[in-house]
Amino acid sequence: MARQLNLYNTALRGKVPFVLLREQAGMYCCGPTVYNYAHIGNLRTYIFEDVLKRTLKYFGYSVKHVMNITDVGHLTSDADTGEDKMENGALRDGKNVWELAEFYTQAFRRDLADLNICEPDIWTKATDNIPAMIRMVEELEKKGFTYTTSDGIYFDTAKFPTYADFAGIDVKNLQAGSRVDMGEKRSVTDFALWKFSPVDKKRQMEWDSPWGKGFPGWHIECSAMSLAYLPQPIDIHCGGMDHIRVHHTNEIAQAEASTGKPYVRYWLHGEFLVVDKGKMAKSGGNFVTLDTVKKQGFQPLAYRMFCFSAHYRSPLMFAWEGLKSAEQGLNNLKKLVAAETKKKTGTEVVSSENVNSLIAPFEDALCDDCNMPVALACVWNLLKDFKATAEEKYAAIEKIDSVLGLDLFTGNSGEAFVNNIDMGDVCLKIIGQSDPGAQAVEQVAAMVRERKEAKMIKNFSKADEIRMKLKGMGVEIKDLSGGVIECSFK
Ligand code: AMP
Ligand code: ZN
Repeated sequence: MARQLNLYNTALRGKVPFVLLREQAGMYCCGPTVYNYAHIGNLRTYIFEDVLKRTLKYFGYSVKHVMNITDVGHLTSDADTGEDKMENGALRDGKNVWELAEFYTQAFRRDLADLNICEPDIWTKATDNIPAMIRMVEELEKKGFTYTTSDGIYFDTAKFPTYADFAGIDVKNLQAGSRVDMGEKRSVTDFALWKFSPVDKKRQMEWDSPWGKGFPGWHIECSAMSLAYLPQPIDIHCGGMDHIRVHHTNEIAQAEASTGKPYVRYWLHGEFLVVDKGKMAKSGGNFVTLDTVKKQGFQPLAYRMFCFSAHYRSPLMFAWEGLKSAEQGLNNLKKLVAAETKKKTGTEVVSSENVNSLIAPFEDALCDDCNMPVALACVWNLLKDFKATAEEKYAAIEKIDSVLGLDLFTGNSGEAFVNNIDMGDVCLKIIGQSDPGAQAVEQVAAMVRERKEAKMIKNFSKADEIRMKLKGMGVEIKDLSGGVIECSFK
């Protein structure tokens, strides 16, 4: 019997069966604001979303995954005051805003590649979708949900009676206890849909609109872009916990008020990665990037493994010791897989019934709201099962790793060497049985650079020639997302 996937729906405050009402599941995940590197807390959320997507695919669902890139309009405060994070970041880095966005978008995509997080089917940049946002604000205006202040067009939350339901907000208390300067806002929960450009300052990013030059509010970006690329109601919408109270509450209000239809069916939120009891945050000065993790000598996938040590709805405390244990666990798992692979005779008939029963506890854990700690425990048990044959275990692990994404068959002697080297102009993912050494890496990097240049001027025969030359030297190369080149040393 097909298994029933159950997911915790924030909107219903409980685990419910996932039922798809159409051919394909639409999945929208709030993407990064690209004014800085993502920290490993952010990446925990993207790992959870990746596991969810892989789980859906594992159970046979077709998924259309959309993620936005916020490259405009995200202010330093949720109360719609303060500076634009992007314009500030550009000043900090001495780049223009467009260069800044491109730089951190590529850095983010490299993090995704390192962590085996599948890229979305559609990336949507806020700056490419301004007309859709303007249309939504116009619709809201037409239906009477907005008012104008001296600095922008605001959503009037009092006009949307179910505003507080999603996050269970006590608006009256919030209003009374609020120390936020409300400016001309009518209610503390009202938020900007469109901000006017300041008269005394030229913004790098601004657009003409029916209300004059300005830029969109952060929340309208996601409502407009998700509905531009996915049919309504969207099946699944995800993000981190911090988005429930403001960002997603506002997304729901805008989308439902403008279309008159339900916005999303299943809302899923990941808990925080914490450090010393506080949320890891870009503003907190306590944040660790994946680059730091790599510089400390860890394989990036050790962090993916680390994230599986807690359920996605439980806070996870980051500690270097914990990461070390996770890496040891990952290497041990690979060793067990390698041992089974060696035992395979290649002649035995594999009974799919046996494989299915071997895999059943793992699937049960997935069905229970993607319970990864339990799922991993099932993998250890499966590998130690003395009744199952090596072939059966191999077949089961192949299926399982399509969800885990831990590359359990790579470097399956258990002593695999995986290292990501960012050389500025080229980023290499080195894979081999052992460290090929700096000289060999430098030699390969020079050839990869040469190939990149050949491709840039469309000299594909030269690019192929270099690839073949590398092959002759025992190095297979593969283009990964985000411009990363995988170099597999034989
Ligand atoms: P941002 O770029 O700040 O919009 O964040 C990107 C994603 O990371 C969002 O889904 C956030 O909810 C999530 N996030 C932010 N901080 C953390 C954290 N410490 N742990 C887990 N997820 C986080
Ligand atoms: Zn969003």
